[in-house]
Amino acid sequence: MPALLLDRQATPTSDASALSARASDPPAAPKLWTPKHVLVTAPAAGLPHTAEILRRCEAAGVTDIRMLSGNRLTGLKGETERETYARAKATLAVVVAPPSQLSPQPIPPSADWRIDLARGCPAHCQYCYLAGSLGGPPITRVYANLDQVLAPIATHAGLGHITSGTEARGHEGTTFELSCYTDPLGIEHLTGSLSQAISRVGRGEYGDDVSLRFTTKFDGVDDLLALPHGRRTRIRFSINAPEVADRFEGGTARMPARLAALRAVAQTGYRVGLTIAPVMPVPGWQQSYRTMLQQVAAAVDGVADLDLTAEIITHRFTPGSKDVLLQWYPRTKLEMDEESRTQKRSKFGGVKYVYPRETMTEMRQWFTDELAATLPGSRLLYWT
Ligand code: SF4
Repeated sequence: MPALLLDRQATPTSDASALSARASDPPAAPKLWTPKHVLVTAPAAGLPHTAEILRRCEAAGVTDIRMLSGNRLTGLKGETERETYARAKATLAVVVAPPSQLSPQPIPPSADWRIDLARGCPAHCQYCYLAGSLGGPPITRVYANLDQVLAPIATHAGLGHITSGTEARGHEGTTFELSCYTDPLGIEHLTGSLSQAISRVGRGEYGDDVSLRFTTKFDGVDDLLALPHGRRTRIRFSINAPEVADRFEGGTARMPARLAALRAVAQTGYRVGLTIAPVMPVPGWQQSYRTMLQQVAAAVDGVADLDLTAEIITHRFTPGSKDVLLQWYPRTKLEMDEESRTQKRSKFGGVKYVYPRETMTEMRQWFTDELAATLPGSRLLYWT
């Protein structure tokens, strides 16, 4: 039986006024990842963006920077899966994105196209969306051929069919999602790639009718605040109930810090959003998520010209992602019980496990109503 049906009476674990108080405190230092090792492949070595990445890595205190003689990333394999995981998660690789990864893909329901500034993420979420979708050790590969990575924004402007032409989102122009395979803000202090993308789009280098979007669990937004973003980038913060965020999202900024960052970017005119994910019907979920939404309301209170969207994604897993996650986090308490889930098949025959229909229906209705009541100025883009 899903936890949803077991405990509807749990008390809230925090309240919105606590966040208001924290939001007015002097800002704490942002959560910044410092890799232990940086590897640079030979094809990436001579590129100008690589020089910028290495300058930033040195400034961040990285002392182990190795220039490789080829294109293969070596030295990641440990004695055990856990050891390989730990080494990979401590390593940033500077590589050239191969041609196969330079071709944008449609990415429903988020955006017309996906563009990858990097692949991999330094955080340690026990439900990580990347588990099972990126093969091999979970190293963070950042792309040094930035001009080539961003070039499809020009070639694909006006060609979208996911959000382009829709009544709800057509005004966004052709949309490009930057966070499918990475958390671009979590590595921005080491790359500068995100700032480049935001500034180029904001200045209109690709025309007036394109926009960027990305989601993050980090809070290091200081370098983004003064960029000429032109309101053409939507920054979404991934948020969750404390029972999920505090328990399963290792290596990320804490929730109050994410909400303070949300306020900061919204105050400088960015369009903003909430990625409420992965939603889990933990005991007392209604009260926990209600408190979370109240904290968001406190964080955006008084922000002029606020443009706030919400995307809500329930927890799901596949046989492949479960396998990988159990290797990475063998003692996880994350519920991945096929028996209590409903099996769904994709059009390509893949299997994923989602919550049962009645649970989904109840949660969807609850979130739709609660969002309208607590954040009446927000727009729900999708629930899945
Ligand atoms: Fe995975 Fe996203 Fe967490 Fe990074 S922030 S570990 S990509 S779920």
